[in-house]
Order: sequence, then C-alpha cells, then structure tokens
Amino acid sequence: MSQREYHIVVLGSGGVGKSCLTAQFVQNVWIESYDPTIEDSYRKTIEVEGRQVVLEILDTAGTEQFTAMRELYMKTGQGFLLVFSITSMTSLHELAELRDQIIRIKDDMKVPIVLVGNKSDLEEDRAVSRARAFAVSQSWGSCPYYETSARRRANVDEVFKDLCRQMIKRDQALRD
Ligand code: GDP
Ligand code: MG
Repeated sequence: MSQREYHIVVLGSGGVGKSCLTAQFVQNVWIESYDPTIEDSYRKTIEVEGRQVVLEILDTAGTEQFTAMRELYMKTGQGFLLVFSITSMTSLHELAELRDQIIRIKDDMKVPIVLVGNKSDLEEDRAVSRARAFAVSQSWGSCPYYETSARRRANVDEVFKDLCRQMIKRDQALRD
C-alpha cells in the first residue's frame, strides 16, 4: 500500500504542553522544561489501518512575527491538534479564535482537528470540566476530544492516531 505523508500543526497557548506532548509522541521522552520559544518540526512514521504514514509535525511556539507566517503553516497543515491545559479555562477559550482562523484559511469546515485537554495528571488543579470541554468539541462539528498527560504519556498516541485517521478520510473524500 502506498506511503502517505501528512502535515500536522500543534497549536495552543504558551505553557499548555505542546512541546512535551510532541516530544513524548516523537521521541518517547518526558522533557520537564522545554524552551518556550523553540518552534520546530519533527518526523515520525506510524502505522494506521495497515498503512505506513509519515507525519511531519510542527510544534508551534506562538513567536511568529508576522501573521503571514501563521497563515502559511495553517495553509500547509492538513491536521491540527488544538491543545489547552485542563488547569486553565483561558487556554481553552483562546483556541476558538485559532480554530476560526484555520477554517477561514483552509476554507474547509471539515478540516481534521482534535481538541486536546492536556495535564490530566493535575486533577486537583482542574479548572475545565470534562463536560465543558466536550461541549466545546461538540460545538465544533463533533470534533473529537481527548484528555492527555504528556507527563505520564497518557493518551498521547491516541490523539495523533485519531488525527491521522481523520486526515486519511478527508484526503480520500477530497480525491473522490
Ligand atoms: P508549550 O509552551 O505549550 O510548548 O508547553 P511545554 O511543553 O513547554 O510545557 C509547559 C510546562 O508544562 C512545562 O513546565 C512542563 O513540564 C509542563 N507540562 C507539560 N505537559 C504536562 C503534563 O501533562 N502534566 C504536567 N503536570 N505538566 C506538564
Ligand atoms: Mg513549546
């Protein structure tokens, strides 16, 4: 079966755990402290539905000086992980604007997106209920919602696999 390559963009407020999630997925390591200004891309090959898929993952840092740069990676991206921290309601609210921007730039209501509530190990500091986040995901055209812990490597692979399956489907729908 043919090998496919997909571009994933990891977006969300500073400090929600984008870099830690990416590092856990790509390298299986927990990095306690990651330079918040580093924006880099990583490659990883995974198997989804019996097919080899090469993922090019851009871990954004929100440091882009021109919105044109953000527009460019939103154009290139085929799947988006919108990450907030379950310990911060603001970090969830800030995703709405990013989602609007993605849909506008891609000009596609059905662009593959997964909503990710990270830091699920910090249950005692939870500020966003599961129900609240789920309601947001439902209002986004039934986008999947996962809670992850980059620290414990909980649900990390699941999030990327779900996005992958969505990208494969969308790709096929657009080819037909
Ligand atoms: P980014 O700015 O979104 O890339 O956030 P980072 O990945 O750099 O993480 C920001 C801070 O949150 C760091 O101090 C991490 O150690 C911490 N962090 C990230 N993910 C988790 C997690 O799942 N659980 C806990 N407890 N802390 C996390
Ligand atoms: Mg980072």
